[in-house]
Amino acid sequence: MFSKKKIQEIRDQFPILKKKIYSNSLVYIDNAATTQKPFQVIKASEIYYSTINSNVHRGLHFLSQESTFYVENVRKKIQKFIHAKHSSEIIFTKGTTESINLVASSISFLIKKGDEIIISYLEHHSNIVPWQILCSKKKALLKIIPINKDGLLQLEYFNFLISEKTKIVAINHVSNVLGIINPVKNIIDKSHEYGALVLIDGAQVPSSLDLDVQNLNVDFYVFSAHKMYGPTGIGILYGKEKILNYLDPYQTGGEMINKVSFDQTTYSDLPFKFEAGTPNIEGIIVWGEAIDFVEKIGVENIQHYKKELLSYAIKLLSRIDGIQLYGGSDLKKRSSIISFNLSKLHCFDVGSILDRFGIAVRTGHLCAQPLMNFFNVKGMIRASFSIYNTFEEIDYLFDSILKAKKFLLKH
Ligand SMILES: *Cc1c(COP(=O)(O)O)cnc(C)c1O
Repeated sequence: MFSKKKIQEIRDQFPILKKKIYSNSLVYIDNAATTQKPFQVIKASEIYYSTINSNVHRGLHFLSQESTFYVENVRKKIQKFIHAKHSSEIIFTKGTTESINLVASSISFLIKKGDEIIISYLEHHSNIVPWQILCSKKKALLKIIPINKDGLLQLEYFNFLISEKTKIVAINHVSNVLGIINPVKNIIDKSHEYGALVLIDGAQVPSSLDLDVQNLNVDFYVFSAHKMYGPTGIGILYGKEKILNYLDPYQTGGEMINKVSFDQTTYSDLPFKFEAGTPNIEGIIVWGEAIDFVEKIGVENIQHYKKELLSYAIKLLSRIDGIQLYGGSDLKKRSSIISFNLSKLHCFDVGSILDRFGIAVRTGHLCAQPLMNFFNVKGMIRASFSIYNTFEEIDYLFDSILKAKKFLLKH
């Protein structure tokens, strides 16, 4: 458990936390949408543009070699961070969304009429729509793993859905709406029994759970930098070497080719085969700083502290009359996300009042409309915690919800 002093030291590294919102202190609890950035990340961007800036892998001059070195270093850092076997299995993309689109596109030649792809009720739109489009192009079928009233995947239905026809299973590791940690290892093992490939959407995972892609034996794993204190516009696709080699390229152009003539083009080896064009060099290098930040505190420590925040928040918020909390009460299966509704009040009305108090929460369908339909609501209010949040902020959230409720029920 971190002391108050330690958390204050961490908070001091995040300049935005000093900002006033309508003359209240900012309480930033929209971390499942994106996290704030510490000084070392912000500074790294300036250092990059002031001292390193140049294109990678192309030039032989000093700066180009330097930027290439830093980029490839971060690739290795990520390899270690997720325990991948080879650094060439780390493909830089714009983020989770692009990584899923890459796989759905590059794998499409494997999908035939009547094949099946399995996702779940819990998915973010970016892990629904690419598969839906692939299915409609190929006349394949999209199958959905149902959930129970707490939002837990119903694995017995998954066992019933999976068959030799299943080509891909794509599910999230942690739900961005309910914070539920899904039993991905079971799903991966079961899918492999039927020869299906598995993609795990890990957008909510880095810095929340220890990640070991080899131990999971997952085929594809994807996440973004910006939800782990890093910059926007950069993320990865991890894929097993053998499978990535087998897939078609996603985009074509510079960097991803070996030889080009007007008759024929051959592709570069991994990872460059999937990295057409000039990459987000600054984003990659700056992301390296975010990983250092996370590793210095320790993923397990972060996870442990966030769990305490979650447990405290659930305890406190459950006391509010008329509150509906989603996601069940088994904290072992939960990450630091808590979504709720208040009586019959509209989530936007509640969110607007919380905003006036300086509290940043997410409201609406949370990029998961099928899940909103499942719970028969238009939207939810979501609080999601990070290493710089405090128990006092949760007290303040609690008081502010009570005030919002009182105000809205009167008007
Ligand atoms: C945020 C999120 C995404 C989308 O990530 P981007 O960085 O916007 O591409 C996908 N899935 C889950 C579970 C998420 O939380």
